[in-house]
Amino acid sequence: MELIDGKKISAQIKQELADEVVRLKAEGKKVPHLVAVLVGNDAASETYVASKVKACREVGFKSTELRYSADMTEEQLLEVVEKLNADTDVDGYIVQLPLPKHISEQKILLAIDPDKDVDGFHPCNVGKMVTGLPIYLPATPAGIVELLKRYHIPTQGKHCVVIGRSNIVGTPMSVLMSRKAEYADCTVTICHSRTPDIKEYTLQADILIVALGKPHFVTADMVKEGAVVVDVGIHRIASDKTKSGFRLAGDVDFENVAPKCSYITPVPGGVGPMTIVSLLQNTLKACKGLV
Ligand code: NAP
Repeated sequence: MELIDGKKISAQIKQELADEVVRLKAEGKKVPHLVAVLVGNDAASETYVASKVKACREVGFKSTELRYSADMTEEQLLEVVEKLNADTDVDGYIVQLPLPKHISEQKILLAIDPDKDVDGFHPCNVGKMVTGLPIYLPATPAGIVELLKRYHIPTQGKHCVVIGRSNIVGTPMSVLMSRKAEYADCTVTICHSRTPDIKEYTLQADILIVALGKPHFVTADMVKEGAVVVDVGIHRIASDKTKSGFRLAGDVDFENVAPKCSYITPVPGGVGPMTIVSLLQNTLKACKGLV
């Protein structure tokens, strides 16, 4: 079994991005600028935004954090979005989800200029992804493809089973793995909460991508010998072995599943660090006008 080390690969990519920033500066060109919009004070969202801003600084990107209180109105947030769309200094921006209940996430998403939508969530960008046009790929699925690529894991003709069909992970993941491309070209099965007997499908998976948000859902008896397992889930679970009283766990029972795998991603240190570098890669693309 080989561990897919997302921490190591993300550090390599950050170095590549930092080198690119040095080149851009030397050529007198603009440095990529990412803006993160945070509404309210959801603890998880605060952590995600802080790590995105920190990652930008590490590679030399310009980053701005815009914070608003939870009682901001939808109209006020739409005004912020319009300003960001018009600001030529801003290459890309993200509006951190979830938003407070009185703000329609869909309305906000549709108002974002697709050229600045470095999360790749705007329907225009999803459509381009599906038709194989150059575009910002959604960060988590793109990070997973990058891991398969950097570990030279063969995917062509393999059976890839994806558990979960969310708009940000499962569905785009299934699209990317089925595309006619290197590190894709799979036959894909997508499972969700209405799939009866998931084990019947997971046991057929050469590549199993798990993104359903249930700790330790995938157990050793559900995995084929030699499979590649990618665990997207991330959960804080109680632990009497750590000072903090909790530890991070994925959707896969790592300890028992790992011995059966050819490759597996750990949690933490697998998919998570790749999500952030994918966002940085999209921001660089935006800055260079590659999309
Ligand atoms: P989500 O929007 O809640 O979607 C979960 C999906 O799993 C849904 O399609 C749901 O099916 C399916 N599902 C739920 N229970 C199931 C079951 N018992 N059997 C089969 N399918 C089931 O979640 P998400 O945003 O995709 O995130 C999934 C996990 O990944 C979460 O733990 C999240 O924290 C994590 N995550 C990690 C990263 C990272 O960077 N590491 C990034 C994003 C998300 P239905 O459609 O039928 O409801």
